[in-house]
Amino acid sequence: MSASKCSRLSGTLVKQLLDSVDSVLFDCDGVIWRGDQAVPGASQVINLLKENGKKVFFVTNNSTKTRKMYADKMSKLGFNVKEEEVFGTAYCCATYLKTVCKLEGKVYLVGSDAMRQELEAVGIQQTGVGPDLVFGKQLDWANVPLDADVKAVVVGFDEHFSYMKMNRALQYLSQPGCLFVGTNRDTRLPLEGGKAVPGTGCLLKAVETAAQCEAQTVGKPNHFMFDCVASQFGVERDRCLMVGDRLDTDILLGSNCGLKTLLTLTGVSTVADAEAHQKSGCAERHGMVPDYYVDSIADLLPALQG
Ligand code: PLP
Ligand code: CA
Repeated sequence: MSASKCSRLSGTLVKQLLDSVDSVLFDCDGVIWRGDQAVPGASQVINLLKENGKKVFFVTNNSTKTRKMYADKMSKLGFNVKEEEVFGTAYCCATYLKTVCKLEGKVYLVGSDAMRQELEAVGIQQTGVGPDLVFGKQLDWANVPLDADVKAVVVGFDEHFSYMKMNRALQYLSQPGCLFVGTNRDTRLPLEGGKAVPGTGCLLKAVETAAQCEAQTVGKPNHFMFDCVASQFGVERDRCLMVGDRLDTDILLGSNCGLKTLLTLTGVSTVADAEAHQKSGCAERHGMVPDYYVDSIADLLPALQG
C-alpha cells in the first residue's frame, strides 16, 4: 500500500489493509472499551475479524487483572475471546521473570492480587501484596525485616502503595544482584470528563528515584509483549496490525516491532499529537506516528460485513 503516514482509514482502504494482515493486536482501554463500557461496535468488529479467519490478540498495560479476569470481562461485554489471546502486564511480567530472567527466588511485589496470581501460576512466590501493616511505632526504617529469599523487586499498579513499600523496595534493591522489573510506565490513567488519576509510571518513578536505578519494563512500548504473542502464536510481523489509542505506548510498540499501526480516536491521543510527532526532527518521535487513524474501530465494520 502506498498511502503516506497518518492518513485517515476509510472506504476501500479499510478492506485493503485488512486483506494485508493475518493478525490484529488490540490495546484494550480506549480501544475496545472505556472503563467498564464497551466501545459501540467493538465486539462485532472483534468477532467478525475472527470469523474472517484473522488471529486477534489483546495487549494491555493494565496490571490489575489476570488473563482469566480479562477473558471474563470480555465475554460479559459480548467479545468472543479466549484467555490465551489476552496478554496483560500481570501475565507478561510473570512470564518475563520466569523465561527471560530465569528468576530463582521470591519477588518483593508492589502490585495487585492479580499479579500475585499470575506469578504463582508460573511457580514464583511473592511477599508484599496488600497493605504494608508495619506502622504505628517508631521504626528503624533502614533495618525493616526483609525476606532473605527475595531476589527481585516488581512494581505494578498498587492501590496500597506507601512510604513503607517504597522503603522496603529500596532495601531489597540495595542487595547485590536484586532484579528490578516494572510492568509499565503509563503516568496517568484517563477517566471520563477529562479527569485522570496517577498511573503505575508514578509508582515506578518513585521507587526508581529512591533506589537510584532504572527498572526494566515489560509493557508497551517494550517489544516483550509482542514477543510473547509472536512466540506463542507464530505471528508474522509484516502481516500484523497494532491498533491503539496511545502514540507513546501502542503505536510506538507497533513501530518498534515492524507492525502496521492504526490509531483510534476513542482514547488518549489525537491526530494533532500524531502530526506534531511527524513534523518533529526526532527519530524516536517518528515511531509514534501511526500509519492510519480512525474515529473508532467501529469504522472497520462495513469492510467486515461486506
Ligand atoms: N494501567 C492501569 C492500572 C489501568 O487501569 C489502565 C487502564 O484502565 C492502563 C494501565 C492502560 O491500559 P491499556 O494498555 O489497556 O490502555
Ligand atoms: Ca489504551
